[in-house]
Amino acid sequence: MTPPANGDAAISSARFLIVGPQGSGKGTQGVLVAAAFGVPQVATGDIFRANVAGGTELGKRVQVIIEAGDLVPDALTSELVRDRLAQADAAEGFLLDGYPRNRGQVDDLDAFLTGRGEALDAVIELEVPRDESISRLTQRAVEQGRTDDTEEVIANRLAIYERETAPILDVYRERGLVVRIDGVGTLAEVTERIFEALAARGLAPRHPGAAA
Ligand code: ADP
Repeated sequence: MTPPANGDAAISSARFLIVGPQGSGKGTQGVLVAAAFGVPQVATGDIFRANVAGGTELGKRVQVIIEAGDLVPDALTSELVRDRLAQADAAEGFLLDGYPRNRGQVDDLDAFLTGRGEALDAVIELEVPRDESISRLTQRAVEQGRTDDTEEVIANRLAIYERETAPILDVYRERGLVVRIDGVGTLAEVTERIFEALAARGLAPRHPGAAA
């Protein structure tokens, strides 16, 4: 492990993205990684859903879009993310889940970070085969009694992920930022893989106990 004297020098910031298809477990893993690094987890889907549930102006604007399974316009989503990342608790880092979701949002995030003299430290890619994603989502739909989440709708959402979101990984891969993780296994196994892969890049958690 890093000697105590270098403990803080090992990583001065923790700016992460977690990217993976629906059903990859990225929400759960993202919470653990964010807690360990002591940074806020920012999940755009959660923020939108909370606004819809709370009946806010934003919620009213996005409700129909979300219920249709479409993407909220980039300008609105990027503004929401910029506002959130400008808050004090995100000064030294953040873990973004569900954003950026397409090329336009990658450009928006680049502009925001560059303007602040900041940069991403890693993009965690959770790899789960299509069949595994579908079976996990179908299982979850049954458990939660979501009869609207049919196999057909699930397949469609995955198709959108593959068409719009997966290509952004190539952009980040060219920048050498992608940490590819096999997402098949138990929750704990996948968590361990993520921390090992980050540590191999010199990204050690500040609060490792938080992930336990
Ligand atoms: P899932 O990953 O299960 O599709 P999320 O919780 O990430 O769902 O997002 C739920 C919904 O919120 C999306 O279907 C979309 O309508 C909206 N949303 C979330 N993030 C974004 C984003 N980055 N850009 C546009 N719309 C988004």
